[in-house]
Amino acid sequence: MRARKRFGQNFLTDRTVIDRLVTAINPKKADEILEIGPGRGALTTPLVASGCNLTLVEIDRDLAAMLTGQFPSVRLVEGDILKVDLESLLPRETRVVGNLPYNISTPLMFRLFLHLPRIKDMHFMLQREVVDRITATPGNKSYGRLSVMSQYYCDSIKLFDVAAGAFTPAPKVTSAIVRLTPANRTVTATHVDLLEKLVTQAFNKRRKTLRNAMSGLLAEAEIKSLGIDPSRRPETLSVNEFVSCANAAVEGSL
Ligand code: SAM
Repeated sequence: MRARKRFGQNFLTDRTVIDRLVTAINPKKADEILEIGPGRGALTTPLVASGCNLTLVEIDRDLAAMLTGQFPSVRLVEGDILKVDLESLLPRETRVVGNLPYNISTPLMFRLFLHLPRIKDMHFMLQREVVDRITATPGNKSYGRLSVMSQYYCDSIKLFDVAAGAFTPAPKVTSAIVRLTPANRTVTATHVDLLEKLVTQAFNKRRKTLRNAMSGLLAEAEIKSLGIDPSRRPETLSVNEFVSCANAAVEGSL
């Protein structure tokens, strides 16, 4: 069966990497696990061996048929993870894993962020550059919209890099494994949509000062009243500072 480029199929074939990833996930018999894009079953086989309660979602009809034959007792949903009903796939606190096709990784994460009360943790193989953005801290060149929004929802840690040679066919880029755990937030956004809007606007003007980058949403005096220097640049703000700004912008617009 040939790998289908349109489904981002780069199959993990390096045994050492597979073992390392499964050790990091540490699946247990009591776990409810959702695997996205099982492909030819590189991760599925060890997950099944752990005895966990597993659900697979695979878009490729041929692979889905193959997986059903290989793992007859595992629940398999043939479909697009961006379209399926996630509620029904997350019956209880679920662990989500996947070596994701790179083109769907960001929209998928944002979809999953809306279901965090049902999620215990997530382990994803992504393009290294994306993992660097997810985990970047203020001041880092990779720090941007994806860092702030994903860290608003989840604590994240990069576990290890995976070289292109670990896959068949080999992708053009290096990959990395990230672990995301729902964050226990002390400061929450009154309106997440507004937080997202403010963060997007701010990073579109990342070299500007906050007084310019947040114009139209937050006045200089309001930024100052939060104890934030308006001459700072957006890339220096922590997630909590962005949340404070967004909440002040909500109040200002009421
Ligand atoms: N997990 C396998 C492995 O590690 O070898 C396959 C990984 S491959 C990078 C991505 C897998 O996701 C493929 O099997 C592909 O068909 C599947 N896939 C792509 N887009 C998908 C989508 N929107 N929903 C569900 N599965 C998808």
